[in-house]
Amino acid sequence: MLNEFLFTQILTELEDAVGVENCSVKEIDKLTHSVDYFWLSRMWADRGRQMPEADFVVSPKNAQEVSKVLKIANYYKLPVTTWGGGGGTQGGAIPVCGGIVLDTKRMNQIYEINTDGMYIECGAGAIYKHIEIAANEKGYATMHYPSSLTCSTVGGFLAHRGIGVVSTKYGKIDDMVLQMEIVLPNGDIIYTSPAPKHAAGPDLNQIFIGSEGTLGIITKAQIRIYEQPEVRRFRGFLFKDMSSAFKASKEILQKFKPSCMRLYDNAETASLIKKIVGVEKPGAFMNIAIEGVKELVDVEEKILLETFAKYGAEDLGSEYGEKWWQEKITFFYPGHMMDLPQCFGTMDTIAPFDKIEKIYWAMKNAIETKYPQARFIAHFSHWYEWGCMVYDRFIVDNPPEDPVEAMKLHNAIWNTGVRTAIANGGVVNDHHGVGIKLGRLMKEQYGPAMQVFEGLKDKLDPNHIMNPFKLGL
Ligand SMILES: Cc1cc2nc3c(=O)[nH]c(=O)nc-3n(C[C@H](O)[C@H](O)[C@H](O)COP(=O)(O)OP(=O)(O)OC[C@H]3O[C@@H](n4cnc5c(N)ncnc54)[C@H](O)[C@@H]3O)c2cc1C
Repeated sequence: MLNEFLFTQILTELEDAVGVENCSVKEIDKLTHSVDYFWLSRMWADRGRQMPEADFVVSPKNAQEVSKVLKIANYYKLPVTTWGGGGGTQGGAIPVCGGIVLDTKRMNQIYEINTDGMYIECGAGAIYKHIEIAANEKGYATMHYPSSLTCSTVGGFLAHRGIGVVSTKYGKIDDMVLQMEIVLPNGDIIYTSPAPKHAAGPDLNQIFIGSEGTLGIITKAQIRIYEQPEVRRFRGFLFKDMSSAFKASKEILQKFKPSCMRLYDNAETASLIKKIVGVEKPGAFMNIAIEGVKELVDVEEKILLETFAKYGAEDLGSEYGEKWWQEKITFFYPGHMMDLPQCFGTMDTIAPFDKIEKIYWAMKNAIETKYPQARFIAHFSHWYEWGCMVYDRFIVDNPPEDPVEAMKLHNAIWNTGVRTAIANGGVVNDHHGVGIKLGRLMKEQYGPAMQVFEGLKDKLDPNHIMNPFKLGL
């Protein structure tokens, strides 16, 4: 807790750095920067409890102003938590130790759309949908279409290693960035290499992507753009079980890359898919999109139909797949998405094909056996030549009313789910990041390898002011 004298002193310095109008100590600003999309933060506030708040909310407009803020923070040893859209699900943007919240949304400039170099250069605080619209106006696309496209920022997706629905063809955000401007905790402004593939040492981009504001603040990025596909076609299939769908999908991925692949377990097919897409039959529904130059797509479609038929998939035609695409964000609308007072979590786990189905069953059995009050549903949404990701959710309809008891139950279910995934060869998280939600499990995932991250942290942020207690650091 800062005394009034020191508080006022720091306030005048921050106002000098970013301008009086961009530095707030108003309760409304502190409150709105204390609850992100993490279930625990929403539940805590919903039950009338006080979330940890920052002392100051600052909104710098560029790297130079960010640098000034970080120098002040380091001098006074004040925690700094970066806030993008606040759409993260892991509590990453919550200022758990107070101090400064640095909101990036004034850094939302689109500097350049470079169609020779095939990138768009923008401020890290730009909402992703805005850079997509800017690319579309020139006839291009970013091909990064997460369900939170309209509420999360470029920097937020980079900081959490985000992913969108056409990732199987175009990759994750870490495949989509060329160069980044970053402000280090000591205020130095650095640039990663101008090309993302090189042999000039380890890849600086990949050190900062996924670092969740613990090693520095991303202020600008060059994001790849793509030509719009000549055609994008959809095909829905029904598999009698998930095993045959995995075999068919692995075979397809050795031949070519569909853009979107989404397989639902029987429970999600019978609930969400029935309700939103209209598929009435029992089984495991899979939607596939293929896109690009028409002649190539014709060939890919033929291979897809032949391969899936071999594994007994019922071809449902294009209608359900198209409906799925139109409704891809509807899944998150009220009434379809879980919401308070339900207790829920999405444990996105990634693993190679030889482990992924085992992980699904192990997590389902562990959670449903230990917590009979929980339901477990899942789909598999991001696919690679070597494996895929299970987007599995637990839902408790009637969690304890007492917020402390609700937190205990929530954390215990997460521990069971993630520890089961790790024990069976999975990774803590595929694309939602770690935040405060999963920080405790990072050491269990990495063991002694965690010292690599800790060493980077100690070197770059010796005062440990940057987003404390996130990412297990
Ligand atoms: C309805 C809904 C659907 C979602 N669907 C998807 C999806 O399909 N795919 C997906 O990947 N995610 C999805 N998410 C999660 C969320 O959108 C991502 O985690 C996103 O990366 C968060 O970005 P943000 O700007 O909202 O970040 P915030 O929540 O503000 O911050 C997230 C973390 O990044 C850090 N950070 C933010 N900006 C910077 C920066 N410039 N430099 C350094 N650190 C920074 C913060 O400190 C924090 O640790 C969804 C969320 C919601 C609410």
